[in-house]
Amino acid sequence: MRVAVVGMGAAGIQAARILEAKGHSLELFDARDRVGGRLHTIESEGLVYDAGGEWIDADHKRALELVADLGGRLYSRQESEPYTFALQGEMRKEGAEWEEAKSDLQSLEAWAREQVASLATAADPDATQHAGKSVADAISEVCRSPLGRLLATAIYRSDEGEDLDRVGLQEWLLGFGNYVHREGLESSAFRVEGGMGALIRRAADTLESPFTPNARLLAVAQREHSVRLHFDGLTVDAGACILTMPPPQVACVSFDPPLPNPQLDAIRSMPMSRTIKIMLAFREPFWEQSGWSGFLHTDSPVQQTWTAPTSPTPVLICYVCGNNCDFWRRQSDPVGTAVEMIEATFPGAKRNFMKGNFHDWVADEWSRGGFCYLPPGYMNRHLANIPLRHGRVVFAGDHTATWKGFIEGALESAERAARDVSSLPA
Ligand SMILES: Cc1cc2nc3c(=O)[nH]c(=O)nc-3n(C[C@H](O)[C@H](O)[C@H](O)COP(=O)(O)OP(=O)(O)OC[C@H]3O[C@@H](n4cnc5c(N)ncnc54)[C@H](O)[C@@H]3O)c2cc1C
Repeated sequence: MRVAVVGMGAAGIQAARILEAKGHSLELFDARDRVGGRLHTIESEGLVYDAGGEWIDADHKRALELVADLGGRLYSRQESEPYTFALQGEMRKEGAEWEEAKSDLQSLEAWAREQVASLATAADPDATQHAGKSVADAISEVCRSPLGRLLATAIYRSDEGEDLDRVGLQEWLLGFGNYVHREGLESSAFRVEGGMGALIRRAADTLESPFTPNARLLAVAQREHSVRLHFDGLTVDAGACILTMPPPQVACVSFDPPLPNPQLDAIRSMPMSRTIKIMLAFREPFWEQSGWSGFLHTDSPVQQTWTAPTSPTPVLICYVCGNNCDFWRRQSDPVGTAVEMIEATFPGAKRNFMKGNFHDWVADEWSRGGFCYLPPGYMNRHLANIPLRHGRVVFAGDHTATWKGFIEGALESAERAARDVSSLPA
């Protein structure tokens, strides 16, 4: 069957790889002028870093298989790269306050594991005590010390890409269920040599089907055995299509026949995280001189930093989520401000600074944010209605998967979408 795949991010590329291998005839489209979507490695003048998705968890089997398949080398985050916590410019590492905070983190994790077990057995999810609550509520209830609350917020906000008062507790526990068998450093365990965006480009290079960039899908009309896709200035007929764009873009496409209201509501009610990355390049990895690994959680608007292990030029990535994104978007020189803030805790930043880049995913037209998260109440009202298939239109993308918000979810959705298309009558 002739299949149109719209969106050449990880989900679209992987779905196309599977369907090509099965002998389908494909046409590939993306609104951007490049493939990769939210996987985007910047390579220029001695710099190599990921402006979008970057880390692979140790149990993200599909992502690890893709790396093995395409011959990428994995860099693991070592125990020797612990996060430093800096509050009001001061590093917090030891003492009674720190021990109390660590114990809070353990209590929170133990509590979440218990809740996951009880959620799995709850007959009626509406009856659970967590409905309508946020992750911030749980942190306030379970963590006793102010530092513990701060650390828990920093760690889980980073995973969700958003402030935790916006993230549903029941919904977060659903995702936490994926983690319960984990031990140790399994989250954000690996990065790929040359970057995740470069890897997905190599995956796209294995495809033989024609690709049309700068093709924004506007409408899909379907008949019994075919679909007609209307792009800006281009009309395409196919036997079926896979749409992989993130929820805000799905909501902009017009469907004939229309998407049923519950499915449309599920898409419209799924927000994208406010996520920004700021890249700072330095002459020397000055942080090493002060014994700092470059990995930081802080209460300043910088929020979190890490290094880019495969960049020839030393790089710090600042990863900012939630309300703090507004702070950075108001700055006339966000890169300069970030260097000043890092200098306040780790002297040497200003002296060594070379150049920087600001990657604002909130302003990205084709994603409107970093990745999806589920707000309070979403699970009971919308989760079951996230559209997976509408006649001969099959939906993919990380938001349709179990691993929402992850590269692993995009790949998971590709496998399901390829199965769905293959099961359609020709
Ligand atoms: C800053 C940031 C950090 C992240 N960090 C991590 C991480 O460390 N680990 C991790 O696992 N995940 C991370 N993620 C999430 C990860 O990048 C995504 O889950 C994954 O890349 C999504 O792939 P996708 O194919 O589902 O969607 P996308 O990559 O968004 O692909 C969808 C494609 O559809 C195209 N499109 C949109 N609208 C239209 C339209 N109307 N017509 C035609 N084409 C359209 C887009 O241009 C895009 O190429 C991060 C994301 C961001 C932004």
